[in-house]
Amino acid sequence: MPEEDFVFVPTPVLAFLARFLPDRATLSLDAWQVDDTAAQITLHVISTPSGVPCPLCHVRTSRVHSRYTRTVADLPWGAYAVRWQLRMRKFFCDNPACPRQIFTERAPTVVAPWARRTLRLAQLLIAYGVALGGEAGTRLTARLGLRTSPTTLLRLVRAAPTPHDAAPQVIGVDEWAWRRGQRYGTILVNLEDHRVLDLLPERSAAAVAAWLTQYPTIAVVCRDRSALYAEGIRQGTPQAVQVVDRFHLVKNLREAVEAFLHDQRAALQAAAALTVQALTVVAGPVSTPRMYRGRHQCSQAWQQRQEAARQQRQAAWVTTYEATHTLHTQGTPVTTIAQQLGISRPTVYAYLRRTRPPSPRSPQRSGQVLRPYMAYVIQRWRELRAQGYSHSARTVSRFITRLRRASEAGWAPETQTSPYTRPQGPSARAVSFTWVCPAVKRSQDAQLYVDQLRQVDQAIGQAYTLSQAFLALVRERQGDALEAWMAKAAASGIEALARFAQGLQEDLAAVKAGLTLPWSNGPVEGHVNRLKLLKRQGYGRADVGLLRQRVLQVA
Ligand SMILES: [Zn+2]
Repeated sequence: MPEEDFVFVPTPVLAFLARFLPDRATLSLDAWQVDDTAAQITLHVISTPSGVPCPLCHVRTSRVHSRYTRTVADLPWGAYAVRWQLRMRKFFCDNPACPRQIFTERAPTVVAPWARRTLRLAQLLIAYGVALGGEAGTRLTARLGLRTSPTTLLRLVRAAPTPHDAAPQVIGVDEWAWRRGQRYGTILVNLEDHRVLDLLPERSAAAVAAWLTQYPTIAVVCRDRSALYAEGIRQGTPQAVQVVDRFHLVKNLREAVEAFLHDQRAALQAAAALTVQALTVVAGPVSTPRMYRGRHQCSQAWQQRQEAARQQRQAAWVTTYEATHTLHTQGTPVTTIAQQLGISRPTVYAYLRRTRPPSPRSPQRSGQVLRPYMAYVIQRWRELRAQGYSHSARTVSRFITRLRRASEAGWAPETQTSPYTRPQGPSARAVSFTWVCPAVKRSQDAQLYVDQLRQVDQAIGQAYTLSQAFLALVRERQGDALEAWMAKAAASGIEALARFAQGLQEDLAAVKAGLTLPWSNGPVEGHVNRLKLLKRQGYGRADVGLLRQRVLQVA
C-alpha cells in the first residue's frame, strides 16, 4: 500500500497509549514514564467508575474513603517491561443495614485481588506454562521479554481455574500410570465431547466413588474389567449403567490367545517354515548358488543342470499361472483355487495380480551385467565395513537374495525383518496381536502366517474360529449372541478360551452392555497415551496437580 493512503492522526500520546489498556471503560491513563537504563515503562493508571456496588450488600456507593496504589506488571512492549502504578480506592458503604462499613474496590476484568500482574499477563504465562512446563516455559517467555521463574510459572498454572463440566452424562474411567508399574491414578473422560473431566491421583474404588457422587447426571460409565472400578461406580452412581469397554474385552481375549499359543511352540515354528515355503512357490525356488558360486562350479555339466532346472521351474510357474487365471475367470472362489492347485491363498492372489506369466530369466554372466555398477557396489561395500560390519559378503548376498524373492512376491523389502519367516517362528505374543487384529489391517506376511498356522493344528484352527466369532460380536455389537458364544467356548476343550468365557460370566451385565451400547473408551485411551507423552516431556516432575492442570487446561 502506498504511504500516502494512510491517514496519520496527531493523537496526544496518553490517548494513544490508553488504547492498550485492557478495560478502557473502567481505567484511564494519567501519566507515563520511561526508564531506559532499566528498560522499564511505568504507566500511571486510575480506576475511574464513579460509583461501585458494595461486595456484601450490593448497594452502590460513591463516597470515597481513601486511595492507595498497587504495582502490577503488564504485557511488555518490545524490549521494555511494562508496569502499572494502579490507583485504587476504598469506599464507605452507605447502607445503614450493612455490617460492612468500608470496602476496597475490585477490578475483576483487569487484575485479581492481591495479584502482582494483570489478568492478561497471567493468562499468557499460564498458557506457556501449560504448553511447555516450568523450565522450557520460562526460557521462551524470557525471549518474549516476560520476566518470570519456573517456580512462578508453575505456581500460576497450579492456581489457574479449570474448565468445569457441570452435568456429564456418559463418561469413561480408566487407570493411568504416573509412575510406571508403581503408582496408578484414574482418568475420567466425558465420552460425548471427549474432554477430560478429571485426573485423580489414585486408583481406588473409594476415590472413584467420591468423585462420581458429585455428578448425579451420570447415566453411563464405561470401564475396564477391574472389580475395583466396578465397585467404585456401584457406590458412587448406583443408578448408572456399567459398560465394559470393547477395547478391554479384545485385550482380555488377546491375553487368553497368547496363553493358549504359549503351549503351541512347535506349531508356531512349523507355520513359519510353511510361510517361507508359500512365499517360495510364488517366487520360485531360490537360485542362491548363482549368486556366489565359485569358479570350480562353472563346469558345463553344472550349467546344463541349472538350465534344465530353470526351464522346469519356468514351465511350472506358467502352468500354475494359467490354471489360476482360468479358474478365476470361471468364477471359482480363491479358497477353492488354492485347494485345487495346492497353493496358499496369498499365492493365488499374487498370481492373479500378474497380467502375464512369470517371465524366464536368462542366465547371465554376473561380471558383465554388473560391470557398470561395480564402482558403486565397491563404494557401498566399503561404507558397510566402515559402519562396523565385519561378517562375510556371503551373508550380504543371502540377504539380497531374500530381498529379491520378496520383491518378486510383491512384498516390501521391509518384510525381510518379518518375525513370521524366521526359523524359530514368531513369539506367541506377536501372533496373539495379529490374531485379534482385523484381517484388513494385517500385513501381508502376517496374514500369510495366520493362514498357515490355522492349518497346522486342528485345535489352533478351532481356537482361531472361536476367537474370530467373538471379535465379530464385539465389532458388530451383538450382545444378544454373547451367551451362546460363551457356551461354545466353555465346551470347546480349549482351556484358555473356556477360562476367558468364565471371566465374562462373572461380569455379564456390563460385558453385554459393552457389546450392545455404542460407547467405548477409545477417547480415554487417547488421553492416557497423551499423558504418557506429557510425562516423557518431563512436564510435571511426577506432580499430579500440575499434570492435571495441563490435561484439563488443554482439553
Ligand atoms: Zn454494604
